[in-house]
Amino acid sequence: MVDESKGKKLQEALTHKWKNVWETLDNSEMEKVFAINEEYKNFLDKGKTERESAREIIRMASEKGYISIDEIRNKRIKPTAGMKINANNKNKAVALFVLGKEKLEKGMHIVGSHLDAPRIDLKHFPLYEDSELALLKTHYYGGIKKYQWVTLPLALHGVVIKEDGEKIDIVIGEDENDPVFFITDLLPHLAKEQMEKKMNEGIVGEGLNVLIGSIPYNDSEISEKVKLNVLKILNEKYGIKEEDFTTAEFEIVPAGKSKDVGIDRSMVGGYGQDDRVCAFTSLKAILDVEVPNKTAVALFVDKEEIGSVGNTSMKSKFFENTVSELIDLTEENYSEILVKRALANSWVLSADTLGAFDPNYPEVLDKRNSPFIGNGITIVKYTGVKGKSGSNDANSEYLSKIRKIFNDNNVVWQMGELGKVDQGGGGTIAYILANYGMEVVDCGIPLLSVHAPFEIASKADVYMTYRGYNAFYKA
Ligand code: MN
Ligand code: MN
Repeated sequence: MVDESKGKKLQEALTHKWKNVWETLDNSEMEKVFAINEEYKNFLDKGKTERESAREIIRMASEKGYISIDEIRNKRIKPTAGMKINANNKNKAVALFVLGKEKLEKGMHIVGSHLDAPRIDLKHFPLYEDSELALLKTHYYGGIKKYQWVTLPLALHGVVIKEDGEKIDIVIGEDENDPVFFITDLLPHLAKEQMEKKMNEGIVGEGLNVLIGSIPYNDSEISEKVKLNVLKILNEKYGIKEEDFTTAEFEIVPAGKSKDVGIDRSMVGGYGQDDRVCAFTSLKAILDVEVPNKTAVALFVDKEEIGSVGNTSMKSKFFENTVSELIDLTEENYSEILVKRALANSWVLSADTLGAFDPNYPEVLDKRNSPFIGNGITIVKYTGVKGKSGSNDANSEYLSKIRKIFNDNNVVWQMGELGKVDQGGGGTIAYILANYGMEVVDCGIPLLSVHAPFEIASKADVYMTYRGYNAFYKA
């Protein structure tokens, strides 16, 4: 019985306060936090596009003994508990599996993140010359604030497939000795009209043209000499010509590496942390799993930022088909009902970022229900807009299971929602997996300045999220 005469004791017994992760760490854990974040920054620097991240995930998994599902099928290897399997979806999305002691039809423990990030794509016919400058036309991808992308050093990442079928990966702007690219903005002296516009009209989509060159080709007989000189350089370096842009996928991203932020080095700043922070932490978590009870799955999908459409997105049949393949490999007799059970009996953490409480913008956030950076892995019961529209609203029974897993494993966690009611909102891949009947809850990391060219995460949250996902796999 609580002694009700002692208010302080009663308060301790009955009220709840979220913890700051840093205050819970001893020295050895503190070292682990900083060590894992060195790996995290490296992961961010190696993967600035969905293709690059997918490649890095498969590379890291192969080092830990993951083999491709195609190889298992072709060599007729009999899957057993603890077997580590990867499935590659068109080099843009990946699924990693560690087979559990229990049969697949009992369900899996899935952590699902996305590898695509907001950026600026090149159009299919991008290169042009205007006023003796060579520029590239672009079409932005995902939810960007366009004014954030001007006057920054930019890099070009992409893939070109030439007419003869040769595939070339191109990255310009990341090496210290590389040139970078640039989108101009108006000087303040002449920006009177621009500055009076609304922020979303000050810089427009068709104005995001990337500066790529200014030396004319030396021949007085021809026109568009600067453009020709750019084509000449590209041809010498990569053997490509203008028509090759039509079959290329080029992405313009902020140039440069991720950095420590703060005098105490407590935060990571970098591009594309939505959602590579959840990709990295779930990857690290599954790479530590040996023989789980339930089959552990780390899903890394593409196209979340544009509504999870297309054949590399969560809405594609890729994951479902891969589970069918696994049932076919692990069962004597394949039956579709086993696939349906495997999916319906699964538990999911939909691993994504959300906006952290930002003291610069308290007016759009409910301080009592907003997540804070440094307060740990964040459970998000519902997302959506207005009256939770479009949300996977997780149920009490499932939430209580996740709470127990985290509490039993000393995982520092918090709950959060995205902004004040009716302030805006958003969604994740949660509702798509929920369609199979899986138990799903959003569970990830709060960031500052989500979708900006440089986003901020707390190193303590990166560590605690890795711990949280790991505990979920082992449960
Ligand atoms: Mn996201
Ligand atoms: Mn996003």
